[in-house]
Amino acid sequence: MSKIRAWAAHGPGQPLDPYEYEAGPLGPEEVEIAVESCGLCHSDLSICNNAWGISAYPCIPGHEVIGRVVALGESTKGLTIGQHVGLGWTAQSCLHCHECLSGNHHLCSQVVPTIVGHYGGFAERVRAQWTWVIPLPDALDTSASGPLLCGGITVFSPFLIHDIKPTQRVGVVGIGGLGHLALKFAAAWGCEVTAFTSSEAKYEEARAFGAHRVFSSRNAEEIRVQAGTLDHMLVAVNVPLDWSALIDTLAPQGQLHIVGAVLEAIPIAAFDLINGQRSVSGSPTGSPVAIADMLQFAARHHIVPQVEHFKMSNVNEAFARLESGKAHYRIVLDADFGSTEITPTDRRKILG
Ligand code: NAP
Ligand code: ZN
Repeated sequence: MSKIRAWAAHGPGQPLDPYEYEAGPLGPEEVEIAVESCGLCHSDLSICNNAWGISAYPCIPGHEVIGRVVALGESTKGLTIGQHVGLGWTAQSCLHCHECLSGNHHLCSQVVPTIVGHYGGFAERVRAQWTWVIPLPDALDTSASGPLLCGGITVFSPFLIHDIKPTQRVGVVGIGGLGHLALKFAAAWGCEVTAFTSSEAKYEEARAFGAHRVFSSRNAEEIRVQAGTLDHMLVAVNVPLDWSALIDTLAPQGQLHIVGAVLEAIPIAAFDLINGQRSVSGSPTGSPVAIADMLQFAARHHIVPQVEHFKMSNVNEAFARLESGKAHYRIVLDADFGSTEITPTDRRKILG
């Protein structure tokens, strides 16, 4: 019927192997995308390794997809064959719950993540509900923009959630795939930007991404010198840090916003929040409209992820580089399955 070639992990800690699956007829709400490239997010690594205890195998990772629409289910809306689109963390939501109808589709309790119990974008083609297939602005540099679809929206959402003002001071902890984009967004938003990194080698580039000041994320004394200087602090690491020192950098009414999947509990002293009326929050990616707005904002402000390209067939080397902390700053895998041209006959097969 409709076979799709992909790269899959068959268990925690296993390398990815070539894998082919039968996708069956396209569902009425589904769109099929021929993958051109796909970013490699730290969440791909965590899901392949079942670090969050939610993985399903075989696991085809990849949720920062750039590609072209090659088939449309009969009930899809607003998309055309051949259109350049992106797909991020979410592949489906119910479209009728309170959250979906409020425009917060990413908070729907029925969301299907693109790479959990669903086959992701390290493949020649990937499918998703039309709602989550986002048309790309023409001005976007598509070869490097995959990381916007997860990393980008995840760090852009907090600006919308907290209604961050351009006059405010924003800190970003962890200058990796997410963090470097957060610096770029915060600078384009007009904020005063402070980067916290564990790597001295990143100081200069953090400034080039838009940071006005750069400090160590692991030196509590240095962090404490910044006490009371930030209105928002975005946490984009996945490791425990000196949370008390970081919360202390918040000015009155300041917010610590967590997007990094730190597995250890984050201890917070009540008086660190009570004094100064500070708060702690978190968020997952964003809604389809937020993704579309973020892409427009990125295109308008020339925000392009800083990426390293690997062939998709070198996916295991790419994972090793990400795991070693050497990715600079996001890896993008370019699909190399050969021709993904879909003929009219193929399209009829896909549509069943
Ligand atoms: P990444 O590229 O690996 O970046 C993580 C950064 O954390 C590193 O670049 C490093 O920054 C810092 N870090 C790592 N180990 C450290 C250590 N031992 N001490 C101090 N800092 C350390 O990962 P990513 O793709 O940006 O993802 C970051 C986190 O966000 C992951 O947990 C991922 O699963 C999560 N995530 C969440 C969402 C969401 O919806 N909330 C979406 C996407 C990803 P420095 O070198 O600057 O210190
Ligand atoms: Zn991600």
